Amino acid sequence: MHLPTVIIIALAINLTVGVYLFLLYQRKPKDQCFKLWSYSCFFFVLGAALVALRPSSLPPFFTFFIADVLLLLAPVYVFAGLIRFSRFRYTRRRRQFALSCLLLVVAGFLISYQHPGLLSVLAAMAIGTLFCLCAWLLHKSIITEPVFTRSLQTVFLLHAAVMFTQTILVIINWQQLNMHGLPEASLYTLASHILLTTLTALLLPWLSFLKLERKLTLKSQRDGLTRLANREHFFNQVERYWQQHPLLPSALIMIDIDFFKEVNDTFGHGVGDRVIASVAKLLSKQLRCNDIIGRIGGEEYAALLIDIDQPTALSISHRLCEQVAKQLQLIDNLNVGLTISIGLVHVIPEQYDYVRAFKKADEALYTSKQAGRNTVTLGSLNE
Ligand code: GH3
Ligand code: MG
Ligand code: MG
Repeated sequence: MHLPTVIIIALAINLTVGVYLFLLYQRKPKDQCFKLWSYSCFFFVLGAALVALRPSSLPPFFTFFIADVLLLLAPVYVFAGLIRFSRFRYTRRRRQFALSCLLLVVAGFLISYQHPGLLSVLAAMAIGTLFCLCAWLLHKSIITEPVFTRSLQTVFLLHAAVMFTQTILVIINWQQLNMHGLPEASLYTLASHILLTTLTALLLPWLSFLKLERKLTLKSQRDGLTRLANREHFFNQVERYWQQHPLLPSALIMIDIDFFKEVNDTFGHGVGDRVIASVAKLLSKQLRCNDIIGRIGGEEYAALLIDIDQPTALSISHRLCEQVAKQLQLIDNLNVGLTISIGLVHVIPEQYDYVRAFKKADEALYTSKQAGRNTVTLGSLNE
């Protein structure tokens, strides 16, 4: 392996990926990760170029200290970009702690840069630790694409392993270090470090595309006005529940706003829209977070109450009617006097097809309407 060739190719690729990421950031300034990752590529290129200049007459302050600080900043910026994909909460205290650690490591570099061996050990340890942290961040990632997440995680862990191996090699060969502070045996770890950095730079843009895909998927599943599941997503979720929990008793409820056309006709469609959104908000508040709720039509909602007995489902449905009548009398200070009607069936998925169960709940809703509205009807599955 000809190391200078490897370095030149790696620098060229990292520079190209860095420019590409920066152009992506210019197009999508909201996606700060592109900016951070492009900086990471540029730091790596500058750091590696300074390392390559070590045999020249440039002062070691630049070719050792500044070079290693730049090489350290490369994974720091990869980490900073990854935070935006993670459920990890980056509070002010945590930021201060991270900054203090970084300053401490840089101070360590400053003290040791005259002793290349010591600097190599410190830099490899710090970079290895950072890649372990990157792998850990991915573990908490919001991206649930397992193949991609695991591949990137493997690259990070491999990178950390390479850096820790380099540390051990430097310590073992302490007496025979070259002017870079590295033993001859670390040629392969060095080349792996360069190649893995390049591989990471090539993989990172994918993460953003996956995030965008996730955002679009979520958008296609939600109703724009209420943020509840839309009809298609609601039925998909119910179908999945039927397959996964065939023995768990549950209740299907259909909910329809009473005389909603009058609200529209009297107060206008704007008020009508706010009424639809207010009912959705109330349903979300009143039901449990693992219940499935959806807006399945104009002023119609449906909910699947999970793992519940019939009396409880009935009392929850009555409570929903009471709360709407109580809390949604006034919308925008207008007396809309809102009520809802509910049709309900209690079902064990294994015993009844969900499409037929819905039909029965719909018929029960119709009975509630016939009975004068603002009421609950329990449908029978035996008829
Ligand atoms: P009932 O008590 O029998 O349910 O009577 P209703 O007036 O509530 O029912 P109907 O089906 O006659 O009217 C529903 C109305 O809902 C008709 C439609 O214009 C209105 N609607 C449907 N979607 C929306 C929406 O997104 N926003 C608004 N403002 N109105 C909507
Ligand atoms: Mg209605
Ligand atoms: Mg209706």
